[in-house]
Amino acid sequence: MALRYLQHLCAWPVICRNQWMTPGELVAMQERALRRLVAHAYARVPHYRRLFDSEGLHPGSIVTLDDLRKVPVLTKEMVRAGYPGDILVSGLDRSECSPRMTSGSSGNKLEVMLDHRVAALYRLMQLRQLTGLGYRPWDTMAYVRFTPPVTSIVPQKMGLFRRSFIPLEWGPERQAEEVLRTRPRIINAYPSVLYLLAKTLGREDGRRLKLKFLMSNSELLTAHARECMEDVFGCKVYDDYSCLEFSAIAFECRMQKLHVAADNVIVEVLDDRGDRLPAGEPGRMIVTSLNNYSMPYIRYEIGDVGVLSGGKCPCGRRFPVLEAIVGRCDDFLVMPSGRLVDPQTVVFQIETIPEVREFRVIQQEDGSLTVSIVPEGVVEFMRIREQIAEKLKVLFGGTLPVDVIETTALDRGSTGKLRSVFSRRSRDVRASPG
Ligand SMILES: [Zn+2]
Repeated sequence: MALRYLQHLCAWPVICRNQWMTPGELVAMQERALRRLVAHAYARVPHYRRLFDSEGLHPGSIVTLDDLRKVPVLTKEMVRAGYPGDILVSGLDRSECSPRMTSGSSGNKLEVMLDHRVAALYRLMQLRQLTGLGYRPWDTMAYVRFTPPVTSIVPQKMGLFRRSFIPLEWGPERQAEEVLRTRPRIINAYPSVLYLLAKTLGREDGRRLKLKFLMSNSELLTAHARECMEDVFGCKVYDDYSCLEFSAIAFECRMQKLHVAADNVIVEVLDDRGDRLPAGEPGRMIVTSLNNYSMPYIRYEIGDVGVLSGGKCPCGRRFPVLEAIVGRCDDFLVMPSGRLVDPQTVVFQIETIPEVREFRVIQQEDGSLTVSIVPEGVVEFMRIREQIAEKLKVLFGGTLPVDVIETTALDRGSTGKLRSVFSRRSRDVRASPG
């Protein structure tokens, strides 16, 4: 245990320094890490050995970031089919690992194997983001979610890195009371949860909390929701783009720009033919993990649509900037013409209606939309229904049948994550988004 903390201490300055590297140093570091990863995967992971052999590739063929595109994309289905024997490193000592289960928000769960070394590295990368935003080890961070965060590690017993837990199932009123009672410095939750909390607390109570900032993760954070939360709490909301497979993919700095964690992942954005897209164009995001050697992911199709930015961030970090995560592939609605509409466009139409407390839009297999609404307070539901139907009619030119239904609560599944827009129709985003 003591040894692990010593390793943390040694790695910390390196991790902090990485984000300030020059672009040239960054590329050199990524290429070194890539070569090492490819050699390891070829030597010790059956899936990659077979794949490389069948493609006529050799570890020596992958030298630069450009060469990476020679490697075929790895899909979730391939990981699921090959797990564990084909995908995990051979001879893996499971007692040295902490397996995690993905949320399976798209219906299919997947086990992710992290060894203790990489799990520790991921924690440090998380800490790098937080300290960059003003978090200090003596600040208490409240987590609003279904499962409690770890609260028993050694530093926490010494009063550092304290975390408090507010169960998601309590609902916003009781959560608001708990926040006012326990006075955390930072609140960490899904944006839909933070948004409801903000609406419940109101500006006076929200500002009384004097929060340092809010951390939002795992769901799409819309500009409207961010603005509303920042107004209520009088502090900034920072977004985080991560998943169990990779931990940090991108993180926001104080300028609210989303930086790719370039010492952890290589992010590519591809078009429907599999060619790399230039900055500014939305496409399928493909992620390579540079640090997970137990379960290597080389060119993994993560299922999100994103846009790289060509610009520099005034914060000075040279980690590339993601202009936007447009949405999960199956969050896009499919028009009768085949055109895809990004979820944020739809969300904006509904979340800006004050009488709507929570909502979800599902596109059925036949293309029609079912909009479930939890109204705010006592309102005339007919009026909301007409308003939404009208807005969506304008948005879609009347091409999609819309059914608006009233409900008392939305089912948040086992993780609590809310997908505001979901299409049962679109299974293939290779058509151009937007
Ligand atoms: Zn920045």
